[in-house]
Formats: sequence, C-alpha cells, structure tokens
Amino acid sequence: MDETLHGTRDRRGHYKPNALLKIAPLYPPRWREIPAWLPSYFLPWNVVFAASAVLYWVLFIPPVETLRTLEPGWALRLYLINVVAVALFYGAFEFRLYWSRSQGDRFKYNPRFPGDTQSRQFWFRNQNIDNVLRTFLFGVSIWTLFGALMLWMWANTWGNWLAIAEAPIYLAIVALLVSMLHQAHFYAIHRLIHTPWLYRHVHSIHHKAVNPSPWSSLAMHPAEHALYFASVFYHVLLPSHPLIALYQLHKAGFGAIPGHIGFDKMEIGEDEAMDLHAYGHYLHHKYFEVNYGDGLVPLDKLFGTYHDGSEEADAQMRARFAKMRREVAPS
Ligand SMILES: [Zn+2]
Ligand SMILES: [Zn+2]
Repeated sequence: MDETLHGTRDRRGHYKPNALLKIAPLYPPRWREIPAWLPSYFLPWNVVFAASAVLYWVLFIPPVETLRTLEPGWALRLYLINVVAVALFYGAFEFRLYWSRSQGDRFKYNPRFPGDTQSRQFWFRNQNIDNVLRTFLFGVSIWTLFGALMLWMWANTWGNWLAIAEAPIYLAIVALLVSMLHQAHFYAIHRLIHTPWLYRHVHSIHHKAVNPSPWSSLAMHPAEHALYFASVFYHVLLPSHPLIALYQLHKAGFGAIPGHIGFDKMEIGEDEAMDLHAYGHYLHHKYFEVNYGDGLVPLDKLFGTYHDGSEEADAQMRARFAKMRREVAPS
C-alpha cells in the first residue's frame, strides 16, 4: 500500500500522517459528529478487550467458593493464563510488524527498528529483551495480583458489588464508561509520574523507549505498574460487577498496546489497512511533555498539552518548552 497517500516523511525519514488527531466530539457535545465518531469508540479495541474479559469470566475465573480464599494455586494459574494471552496478543503484532516485517517500514513513524541497535540503557543492551522481561516479571505479575485481589474482595463481598440482574442498566452504563475512566485515571497518574522526582526514579524506565514497539507497552517500573493497574479498584469503591472490573484490567493490560505499536496503519491485503490509533502516544514518547492522555477525555486540551500532529501544535509545544526552560534557568 502506498503510504504517501496518507502521510509524509521528513528529512530523517520519520513518518507523519496527514490526518490530524481529534478530540472526541463529546465536550461539549457536537451532536452531528457523534454518529460518525461512535463506532471508533467500540471498534476495534474496546470490543476486543470487553470480549476477552467475558472469555476469561466464562472459561478461566474459578468458582466463587475458590475465590473466597486467596491461594497461590488459582492466582498462579491466572498469571500463566495472562502470560500466554499477552504473549499471543502482543506477540502477534510484534511478529507481523517487527519480526517478519511483512510491510517493511511502510507507515512506521520512526524508520528504525529497535531490535537492530544496541543500547546500554536497556538490560542486555537490547530494547526487546529488556521490555519483554519487564512485561512478564513485573507487569503481568502486578496485573494478576490486582485482579486476584479484586476477585477475592468480590467473593468475600467487600465492596459495593451488584448482581447483573439487580441493576442491568446502571451496570451497562458503567461498562460503557470503562474506557473513559481508564483514560482519566491514566492521565492523572501520568501527570503525577512526570513530576521531577517520580520521573527520574520511576517513569524514566518507560521513556527509555523513544522508538516504542509492542513490547514497550508494559515496560515500566513496578511502581508505575501498580499505579497503572490500580484502576481496577474503582470497581471496589463504586457499585460495580467483577466482570466490568475485569474489563477495566484488560483495557489497561491489553489496551496498553495501541499507543506503542509504532506504526500508523497495519496493512491488510493489497489496498486495505487498519488504523492503529498509535500516533497520539507516539508523540508523547517522542516529545515527552505532550499527550499525557488521548483525545477521549479532553484533559490535554484543557491543560494545554494536546498535540494533534499539526504544524501549529508543534509551534505551540516549542513555545511552551522554551517558556519552561526560561522558568527553570532565568537569565
Ligand atoms: Zn508509553
Ligand atoms: Zn510519560
């Protein structure tokens, strides 16, 4: 597929899509745009994460009697299931785009492939090995631990748990809001870990990947994993259902990948390509102080850190950086 129909490359070969990023038409509501925007709220990602939560609920979550006691047996089994699921889901993108390089560097923002170069910044001087180890050693472990704690709390009726038959409409609304809750939570913790001390000691690990790939998604300091996956506990505080809490976890765990794929589109056949919605967070990895969240909740817009990919946004960002530098080092 011809990438020049959809974007341009600069002198260094970095790809930039022509289409600008957009804030969801909800704040304030732009009613005419909502019908066209709505499918993108569900497809493809949220449907996949909701479906994976249902699949887990039906196939893998032990009966409530088992969950009443927090035992390593079932928790370890859930960890192994998560390991296999992450290996398959992340691995599918990694294999297609980075291992077999089935579309070369077409639609790839940064033309380099992280596995091709060595860097002392990473364990074993290799971004992929470092990121895979951090994902499975810390990321999936904390994800599973928080999931197990949530299920244990539910089984022991600690929290405001509802049965689906008790409040189906309310629970459907909560399920619809999972994605927004995720973005608002991520924005809040992300701003927090960009404060100087936490950035230096915690979040800088994730930002070592200036050129992210699928395995960068959960390559974080364990403290960041803990903050990130803590979103599941909103469902202990608010009236909710464990299946929705599981969806919240899957939104965080599997949902970390879209922003880190490193490609704007994945080709499907000769003339078709799937939009990967990766550009907003890619710009965060490139410039650090923009796009702490995405356009689903308008917090970046509100606080002046939104970058939609345009020349104007670039100029505003550079002016803001210059102002920050002047404030740090007044002449
Ligand atoms: Zn990231
Ligand atoms: Zn960051």
